[in-house]
This record gives sequence, structure tokens and C-alpha cells, in this order.
Amino acid sequence: MNYFSSDFKLGILGGGQLGKMLLFDTRKFDIQTLVLDPSDEAPCKIACNQFFKGDLMDFETVYNFGKKVDVLTFEIELVNLEALVKLEEEGLKVFPSPKTLKLIQNKGIQKDFYINHAIPTANYKRFENLKSLIVDILDSKIKLPFVWKCTEFGYDGNGVKVIRQISDLDNLANVECIAEEMVPFKNELAVIVCRNPSGEIKTYPVVEMEFHPEANQVEYVICPARIDDKVAEKARAIALNVSEKFNHVGLLAVEMFQTEDDEILVNEVAPRPHNSGHYSIEASYTSQFENHLRAILDLPLGNTDSKVAGIMVNLVGSEGFSGNVVYENIEKILGWNGVTPHIYGKKQTRPFRKMGHVTIVNEDIDEARRIAEEVKNTIRVISV
Ligand code: ADP
Repeated sequence: MNYFSSDFKLGILGGGQLGKMLLFDTRKFDIQTLVLDPSDEAPCKIACNQFFKGDLMDFETVYNFGKKVDVLTFEIELVNLEALVKLEEEGLKVFPSPKTLKLIQNKGIQKDFYINHAIPTANYKRFENLKSLIVDILDSKIKLPFVWKCTEFGYDGNGVKVIRQISDLDNLANVECIAEEMVPFKNELAVIVCRNPSGEIKTYPVVEMEFHPEANQVEYVICPARIDDKVAEKARAIALNVSEKFNHVGLLAVEMFQTEDDEILVNEVAPRPHNSGHYSIEASYTSQFENHLRAILDLPLGNTDSKVAGIMVNLVGSEGFSGNVVYENIEKILGWNGVTPHIYGKKQTRPFRKMGHVTIVNEDIDEARRIAEEVKNTIRVISV
């Protein structure tokens, strides 16, 4: 099929920043795009060929949107699965496949998948609701501390809580959940794998993620991770194995823990471009977004190696500010070598909302990390 400067139409479910960054590459290749998103202010609106406003969880809306395109992909996991299944049954190419998405959308099912395929992961137990978890704690079948995770609709750490005493469960929703063993980890790592339908498969280098201690959001992503080569090799091999077991097409971001004794445990996966791969726009031969596109269109995959060390700093709304956004000191950081801000185009800021990111590239990773901290301490996302 001819995708370039043709009538071919790629559909993207979700119009957020991941979609917007993917659209840079569809523009580069002159591939037509249609985007569906519930918000009138979706970041994708400025760069797609046609924008449709609608509910991503509504069967009819997603199904009808799918009927307008030749290949369908998504930039968010919270989409109507039944509509994707029906579209795929009717012959539409949907990548990643709804079969994979089904295994990933629910954290309990995802964890079972790892166990069934001998993929190392932290021990856990599934519960239908909070009440049944409490029964197990009172019966001493679950030991404190542990990590509570709701199985569906959690994101950026907001469906995750460390439970040290039973009162920590107060105010949690009575929904399906898992209780997971606390992992004493040295590092949180991630590997992005891309795979096309022909089976060509490549991994990006291992990255290291540093988290904001309170918000539980990634603050810095560092590529390459400053870890032993052997550990990095192990992490890449495990990520490849996970992608193959899912029979995945497109990008799969595999988040992992490096334990105190250098074991690798898979935490969770995301079947799409991922925050941990944003550095690749500036630092890699082929960005994660270009490779997602190549993968879902069954084109040869691009080189995933880095040209230079890259660090990403998330730009999230500062605490105490809500309203029309202003990026304080952005001109200042633009004056520094190797510093590139990305502004997602959300008009309103609120505390910890992801508003953009900044990439820092440098030949020397320690220097990049130093500049990243200066960036973090200089730019502020506030409101007028
Ligand atoms: P989300 O889907 O919201 O990103 P995660 O499962 O990735 O949720 O958990 C968010 C964060 O919580 C992780 O990045 C990690 O810092 C911490 N965390 C999650 N599971 C565990 C665990 N078993 N042990 C220790 N920390 C954990």
C-alpha cells in the first residue's frame, strides 16, 4: 500500500501530547491522519488532517470513527475495546491489537499474563474489591506494607498507594484491585520495544527514571541508564521477551524495577509511545514516534541507537497555580546548549498536570544531568 502523499488514512484514538508528537512524523511522511478526542482543546487538533470530537469509551463513536480509516492506532489505553474488536473482526488493521490491549487494560490480567509466561514480576494477589482485600489483611493473609493498585483506569500513579497501616486504605474506592509486594528497588528502568507485523523487532536503550517523591510522577528520564552493562542487557532481553509473548505490534514500553540484588522485575507495560521515550526525538537516530508509525505500517524499523546522551525533564504544573498557563523563564533555558522545550498546547495548568517536557542532549551524561537539574529549577509552569 502507498501511504505517502496518498489517500491512505491513519486513525488515531486520543488527541493528547503523544498523538501530537506522532503527528510530527505523519507530517514528515505526508501521511493523512484523522484524530478522535473528547476535548475541543486537544493538542492534536492543530496537526491532524481531520479532527473528530467524541467519547473514546463509547462503542458507536469509536466504531464509526474506525470505519473512516485504513489503519487504526491509539495513544491512550482507555478506549472502547469492544469497538476495536469488532473493527478488527471486520478486517480493519488495528495496531496494537485489541487482543493485546485486553491483556494490558486490567492490571490483574496483565500480572497473570506475566506469571503464565514466566516473566519475572513482583508477587501479588487479585481482589474483586477493597472489602475482600480487608478481609485478607484481617486474616493475616496479606502482610503490611504492600502496594495497592486499582486494576483499571489508574494512570501516573493515581491508582497506586503504598499501604503501611490499615487506615491507609481509608477513602480508597471499593473497586477491583491487586495487593503487590513492595519491591526494594535501586532503580526504575524502562525499555521501549518496537515490532512490526512482519516480526522485525528492535529495542531502544535502557533508560532510568527518577520520580518526584510526592506526586509519584517521573521527573527525569535518563538515557542511557547509568547501570552495569550486564544489568542493561538483562533488562533489554526481558523487554524483548515481553513484546514477543504479547505478539505485540507497534511500541511497547516495558517498565521494570532493578532490585537491590540486580534482579529485573517487570512492573507494567504501555502499548504506545511513552513518556520514557520522549528523549528519542532529539537524542536517537529514529524517534519512538517515527518507529511507532513504521511499525504499525509494516515498514522497516529505524535505528534505535542514540546519537548522544539525552535527559528528559517533565514540565508539570507547579503547586498552587491553576488557570491560564505561563512558562516562566522559558527564554532563559532556550539560551542553553542542547536544551529543547516541548509545549503540549494545553491552555490551562493545574498542579502536577503534564504540560510539556524539556530534552537536554550532551556528549557527557553527567553534564546533561547537571543541566537538567538547572532546567528543573529554572522553568516554572504557573498561571497568570
Ligand atoms: P501507574 O500505572 O499509575 O504508572 P505503576 O504501577 O507504574 O502505576 O506505579 C507507580 C509507581 O509506584 C511506580 O513507578 C513505583 O515508583 C511505585 N511502585 C509500583 N509498584 C511498586 C512495588 N511493587 N514496589 C514498590 N514501588 C512500587
